[in-house]
Amino acid sequence: MCINKALTQNIASEQVLEQPSAADILIVDDTLENLKLLSSMLTEQGYNVRKATTGQMALKAVQSLLPDLVLLDIMMPDLTGFEVCKQLKSQPQAVDLPIIFLSALDTPVDKVQAFEVGGSDYISKPFQIEEVLVRVNHHLALKAAHQEICSLNAKLEARVSERTQQLTNAHHRLREAEAYDPLTGLINRSTFIQQVDIALSLSKTRTNGVFAVLIMDCDRFKVINDALGHLVGDELLQNLAKPLSRLIRQNDHLARLGGDEFAILLNEINDIDQAVNVADRILSVLAQPFCFRGYEIFVNVSIGLVLGNTSYDHPEQLLRDADIAMYRAKASGRGQYQVFSSAMDGEAHRRLEIETDLHRALKLKEFRAHFQPIVDLATGTIAGFEALARWQHPKHGLIPPGEFLPIAEETGLICEIGRSIMEQACHQLQNWRQEGFSALMMYVNLSAQELSQPILIEEIDRILAETQLPSSAIKLEITESSMIQDLQTTILILNQLQERGIQLSIDDFGTGYSSLGQLQSLPVNTLKIDRAFTQQLDGTPETVGLVPVILGIAQVMDMDVVAEGIETEQQLAQLRELGCRYGQGFLFSRPVDAQTATQLIRSDNRW
Ligand code: C2E
Ligand code: CA
Ligand code: CA
Repeated sequence: MCINKALTQNIASEQVLEQPSAADILIVDDTLENLKLLSSMLTEQGYNVRKATTGQMALKAVQSLLPDLVLLDIMMPDLTGFEVCKQLKSQPQAVDLPIIFLSALDTPVDKVQAFEVGGSDYISKPFQIEEVLVRVNHHLALKAAHQEICSLNAKLEARVSERTQQLTNAHHRLREAEAYDPLTGLINRSTFIQQVDIALSLSKTRTNGVFAVLIMDCDRFKVINDALGHLVGDELLQNLAKPLSRLIRQNDHLARLGGDEFAILLNEINDIDQAVNVADRILSVLAQPFCFRGYEIFVNVSIGLVLGNTSYDHPEQLLRDADIAMYRAKASGRGQYQVFSSAMDGEAHRRLEIETDLHRALKLKEFRAHFQPIVDLATGTIAGFEALARWQHPKHGLIPPGEFLPIAEETGLICEIGRSIMEQACHQLQNWRQEGFSALMMYVNLSAQELSQPILIEEIDRILAETQLPSSAIKLEITESSMIQDLQTTILILNQLQERGIQLSIDDFGTGYSSLGQLQSLPVNTLKIDRAFTQQLDGTPETVGLVPVILGIAQVMDMDVVAEGIETEQQLAQLRELGCRYGQGFLFSRPVDAQTATQLIRSDNRW
């Protein structure tokens, strides 16, 4: 209201002061005197004036040129003013035309009728000329204001629709951002779930709607990320997305679920074999190292597969089961796939139980080092022991590391467990040395995760100081694959270990990917021949496999060799013949507790 009023005043003054001649007024009156008087007065005021003496003339005049205002008599010979007004107002162009009635009729009924037919105002005759002027000016100003409001409204509407368009665009972009993973450009989890939902509903209505969901998780991505920084990690994920997207068809969907987890929805497949085939191809593509910023990185993935079927109600259930299968794949050695089966469901629960249980066990110190002798094959005496983790569980008894270490690695608990085993092993070794067995070595396993923790060196220093052991008495075992995750960082840490005189052994040698070049750049003292090679040996020369090669490498590089997994006399004899210096295996002894190990040393047994 206030704005309108201000606008009106503003426009009224403009109209009158600046363009007083612009307004065109039509006077309709059959009384010529009135016509003359009004016309001369309005002309004097600078208005353009036209005159009509009958209703018909008035209608024609308006039709030929629309005036800005009409002064209209009511009582006329042909048409009454009311009729003229009604007809004018029925024409679209004249809807806003201000019409002021001038009449000697001035009962309330007449006035009401004047407004009912569309009149803007009513002046009684005989009129005061000042009053006519004031009302004319007022209605012209109102009309101008009305026009201005209309044009402002039009502009406003244009602005609003422009803004609406902008908002729609913005909303669209936002929707897009909500649907995609910004790092890889792949669809994200929520979009993926929508797609699985669609596949699920289609499968319920169509017989050929078989589909499968694959979830894959990079093994050891965290290690790479921690060691090389998340920028390199990000770049690696982007590089990973490319070959994966090449493996799927147009109808399929590849998503990044978050972190290092990817998922694929395979639509319209024939059976699970087709999905397994895709999993196989992914594994073989990723078995190649990524050459990347001067590093050679192996990003093995573990894949979980689930076949869509009508017993599923929600897409999340499929993702959950694919996830369970994926964890299963991880647990059974990385770089593999597993197809979900309902039996795994129970296992998943067990996994979760173990995870909670691990935390409790750490607090209660339920992890025990067991010891397996390492025998000097030349003398047949015990040269040292390998410390192997066992979980002395109050309910389930002694649990081997294969059942809890993978979960401990995923949860990061491996570092604490590893430290506990190292402490026990060093204290035990110190006991034996004090008893006089001063030549014994202790072999301790290190996981990739421990190897990427700078605190490792501090912990080892602390344990050595505590036990007063010479650093040369312990040998750390590292697998090839955990070493080459991040060669540069590993070399740094290994060099620090070497400076302290701590020896290094490469575990499961021959199964990984390390090249001789890499081996040369590392301060390694010992190679442990993987038990897969040992167990091939059956006394015939055809079965020696890589063993002589490994022995040759060790000799050239001045390293010791331990053959793992010796179970038969035949294997022992053949290894001796090949010149292997040390051996370990069930033939000599299984891993045993500290007390039994002590008896073994004291027994002075020779193999
Ligand atoms: P590994 O380091 O290769 O340890 C040797 C494994 O081979 C042990 O299994 C041992 O019991 C088994 N073994 C020894 N001799 C024979 C044999 O003659 N025949 C057969 N079939 N097996 C033999 P275990 O104790 O179950 O340990 C499995 C793996 O768990 C170890 O493999 C090691 O990678 C890991 N591990 C064990 N303790 C620790 C630990 O304290 N820290 C870390 N990071 N890893 C550990
Ligand atoms: Ca080992
Ligand atoms: Ca081994």
